[in-house]
Amino acid sequence: MSEEKSLNFIEEIVEEDLKTGKYTSITTRFPPEPNGYLHIGHAKSICLNFGLAKKYGGKTNLRFDDTNPVTEETEYVDSIKEDVRWLGFEWANEFYASDYFEKLYQFAVVLIEKGLAYVDDSTSEDIATQKGTPTIPGSRNQYADRTPSENLALFTDMRAGKFPDGSKVLRAKIDMASPNMLLRDPIIYRIKHAHHHRTGDTWCVYPMYDFAHGQSDSIENITHSICTLEFVPHRALYDWCIENLGIFPSRQYEFARLNMTYTVMSKRKLLQLVNEGHVNGWDDPRMSTISGMRRRGYPAESIREFCERIGIAKRENLIDVGLLEFCVREQLNKIALRRMVVFDPLKIVITNYPDTTEWLSSENNPEDQSAGHRDIPFSRELYIEKDDFMEIPSKKYFRLAPGQMVRLKSAYIIKCEEVIKDANGNITSLHCTYIPESKSGSDTSGINVKGTLHWVSVAHAIKAEIRLYDRLFTVEDVANAEGDFKDHINPASLQVIENAYAEPALCKDSADDRYQFIRKGYFCLDKESTAEKLVFNRTVTLKDGWAKEVKKA
Ligand code: ATP
Ligand code: MG
Repeated sequence: MSEEKSLNFIEEIVEEDLKTGKYTSITTRFPPEPNGYLHIGHAKSICLNFGLAKKYGGKTNLRFDDTNPVTEETEYVDSIKEDVRWLGFEWANEFYASDYFEKLYQFAVVLIEKGLAYVDDSTSEDIATQKGTPTIPGSRNQYADRTPSENLALFTDMRAGKFPDGSKVLRAKIDMASPNMLLRDPIIYRIKHAHHHRTGDTWCVYPMYDFAHGQSDSIENITHSICTLEFVPHRALYDWCIENLGIFPSRQYEFARLNMTYTVMSKRKLLQLVNEGHVNGWDDPRMSTISGMRRRGYPAESIREFCERIGIAKRENLIDVGLLEFCVREQLNKIALRRMVVFDPLKIVITNYPDTTEWLSSENNPEDQSAGHRDIPFSRELYIEKDDFMEIPSKKYFRLAPGQMVRLKSAYIIKCEEVIKDANGNITSLHCTYIPESKSGSDTSGINVKGTLHWVSVAHAIKAEIRLYDRLFTVEDVANAEGDFKDHINPASLQVIENAYAEPALCKDSADDRYQFIRKGYFCLDKESTAEKLVFNRTVTLKDGWAKEVKKA
């Protein structure tokens, strides 16, 4: 059995509700507004909602909260479905709040008939001033005195398109003196002559969030409606609507939204980054979007693990992105195929090696024997990294230097015999010798060397482009940093290496594979890769470079 974990506060509520028999099974929902791509904050909400239903044998609906006609697009709907599935969850039903427009309209009619809603012709400025302030009660205007039949006639005409945008609204009649400003006769319907992505031009009146969300929950018999803390003041209105309409009593529970260091997590800001060209689209691997993380090579398991580890908080906090990267590394270490790629080549010639190719076997993943082996070609001319050689080595430099020996990974020990330079004194290649008895796996040379280098055979190398990503922002708490959030964009968040050299096993591998480029980090094939040109994204470094930077500072 798995270890006992303490319950989070929402699980406690659910267990209590099941124990007391309030519900025999639970239904949750994930309710994205289709006005952008999902980000890691949404992943948190997805894992929570779907996770609860999974744990307690209930179900979860995917509901598109598409009551605002102007910002929503089908492209976003499709991307959201793809992202939820990729994260590993399947919804019981796919619903659209816009499918409830007729029901919601009828709910508004019920309130009108009960004398609990009225049509107000005031300007939005007047409505705002009449609302008062948190310390000064608001006051009603003459429109609040309209009779139910007058209101019904006007609301019918609003629906029929007889009035222009902004000329009238429908307000719930609650309490103009309530300390909760949202209860001071909130607007529940507005006129908007706008085309909706699903209902087209059928409607010109649209419900406000507060009149759509709770009722949609209720229509779907949602037992636990989980949202983020900013909706705490909305709960009273949520409950008021359900109570006065006498419909299924869904209940709202709030938890702290996920905030993460060095990134932004609001669709509005992410959209700005896309539209202003700071990144290359919603799925740019530097984005906090699920599609960006997928393209960057983050496994879905790692994102789920991260959401599990951070738990459910009742107070806002800022989570270190290093924790997410830790989860990514942990998973990739288990599944990544080890490969050798030289980013900045220096040619070496093994002068005592014959003019042939030898295929050396090497493990695909020392952490996973079932991953098997691959063959790596070894020949007279090889590439190593430029910075794995020093002509005048410093003390404790265990890599290659004149007269010094190193091991080539999965191959032989070599010794640098001569440095070859051009007329200007630039190093063009190294002449080395190899020790035939030192072959990895059957080494009888008795020689011990401290350094092991990665390498590729010149004749067999495949050219590849490598994209290295760094944090998109230079400050930890981007949302609360001074000035505009875009002032803090890291100008060096993308570094492209045009001509790296990869061992040939890489072109045979499938696009879904994850790699560890030995000594370099974890990588995956980018979607822009072609048969002619391989493009790799660095998913994450081998170690946390930032933790060191922070400690130094
Ligand atoms: P954004 O501000 O990024 O646009 P949103 O809350 O407007 O986010 P919705 O599409 O309305 O986005 O959100 C769908 C669900 O995801 C909601 O239940 C919302 O509470 C939840 N959610 C959104 N952002 C976060 C976050 N950072 N952490 C946890 N849950 C979130
Ligand atoms: Mg929203």
